[in-house]
Amino acid sequence: MAKGLDKNRERKSLLSSFGKNLVRRSGSSCELCNSKGTALGIYEIPPVPKEPDYDRCLFICDDCRTQLNNTSKIQADHWRCLNNTVWSETAVIQALSIRMLRIIASDHNWAEELLDQVYPDPEVEEMAHI
Ligand SMILES: [Zn+2]
Repeated sequence: MAKGLDKNRERKSLLSSFGKNLVRRSGSSCELCNSKGTALGIYEIPPVPKEPDYDRCLFICDDCRTQLNNTSKIQADHWRCLNNTVWSETAVIQALSIRMLRIIASDHNWAEELLDQVYPDPEVEEMAHI
């Protein structure tokens, strides 16, 4: 039990050590919807690995996080931001954008049309695949 707790603490501190680089990469705005001046936190694209992996982390706002964690709360208009992020050169940002678009595309043509234009690299596709 104690061992598990230590592991958890170790993981958390490793994860928060990514913070500085994520702040720099994101320019302190949400890496999905670009909102500024709001609390940002680290989001790991699922499935979450045992060892935190910087290349699977994003820096995002609570609004995006809530909708990512609960697809019944998705407001499609919030995700118009994917028009930009789906072209991101950061693999994890592109991968998560594709993942979200695939969910939204079932009800929204704009998302489907956008997806039709994107040909992700295999590594991005693998990360985007659920
Ligand atoms: Zn956001």
